[in-house]
Amino acid sequence: ALTTGIVGLPNVGKSTLFNAITQAGAESANYPFCTIDPNVGIVEVPDYRLDKLTELVDPDKTVPTAFEFTDIAGIVEGASKGEGLGNKFLSHIRQVDAISHVVRCFVDENITHVSGSVDPIRDIQVINLELILADMETVEKRIGRVEKMAKQKDKEAIAEFEVLEKLREAFENEMPARSVELSKEQAKIAKGLHLLTMKPVLYAANVSEEEIIDAEQNPYVAKVRDFAQSEGSEVIVVCAKIESEIAELDGAEKQEFLDDLGIEESGLDQLIKAAYNLLGLETYFTAGKQEVRAWTIRKGTKAPQAAGVIHTDFERGFIRAEVVSYDDLIEAGSMGQAKENGKVRLEGKDYIVQDGDVIHFRFNV
Ligand code: GDP
Repeated sequence: ALTTGIVGLPNVGKSTLFNAITQAGAESANYPFCTIDPNVGIVEVPDYRLDKLTELVDPDKTVPTAFEFTDIAGIVEGASKGEGLGNKFLSHIRQVDAISHVVRCFVDENITHVSGSVDPIRDIQVINLELILADMETVEKRIGRVEKMAKQKDKEAIAEFEVLEKLREAFENEMPARSVELSKEQAKIAKGLHLLTMKPVLYAANVSEEEIIDAEQNPYVAKVRDFAQSEGSEVIVVCAKIESEIAELDGAEKQEFLDDLGIEESGLDQLIKAAYNLLGLETYFTAGKQEVRAWTIRKGTKAPQAAGVIHTDFERGFIRAEVVSYDDLIEAGSMGQAKENGKVRLEGKDYIVQDGDVIHFRFNV
């Protein structure tokens, strides 16, 4: 399963946030595809559409979809020099598909900052630099080999050499691979290098309890936003401490707590959604009397493979998918009416499932 790694310097609030994730999260027993590992937290994906479908269908039960966060331990500074724990840090990052980078934006005299003061951009750069240095090594190893072949007019080598040069230049300027503009062909070549700084990143700006209501007043958040924009990444504002308190509450209590604070959606819920998106995941639904349920697929998945997420038999015996979009179904008010409106389509094995599709699969057993 795809996973997002949580990284950050010591004392920025990673563990607090990760605890909130595991507390709020689901049992892996309900999601057999998920890993059982203390460093992995399973979260259910908040989705208002699932609530609406539940109102509409009134099923026996409702099941959200879920995915994983991985807590990435290990020492950051000096990691690229390959020293023990630092090395572990890099190898853990290699295994995740996207990165949630927690940055400290809260000031608290009682909590030591590893570098002595709160400075989120410096913190971000400490970690990014380690990743860039590791990638630089990958690229330099490769460039030596490819350059020779390029000189012998090997077409593929010439194309790869160009990409490697572009990447090297970015790294020399301390820019991540994801910031480099590449053509489709070049992106394919770059993908083969499995670079750490090619992974999509979102920044979680951890602010204090007092600031969560109006986080834009926090000058550090503005700086993080500017920085993230320069590399095309997203920023989510959270207060890890409050999130860990919210995580202990159940649905109704949680809503009350948020209402009291005047917050529409918890930072953690925003983070979960952003990470899901960052991983290139999307959701389709099944909506029967027994169960209304959300399912996760990668963007671009075709109908039989989407069916396979439910059960391998569904994929193997796939005949057709009866599909109605969430919006059309809600507008119609019932499946029967949606059919009458001509909004329920029969789709075949080449149909690319769209986010929000409500699907009934027909299959041979
Ligand atoms: P980690 O080393 O990055 O995992 O950081 P921790 O999650 O252990 O947090 C370090 C310290 O900062 C702990 O004492 C937390 O209670 C505190 N902390 C974390 N988030 C917040 C926050 O949002 N506000 C305040 N005031 N303290 C926080």
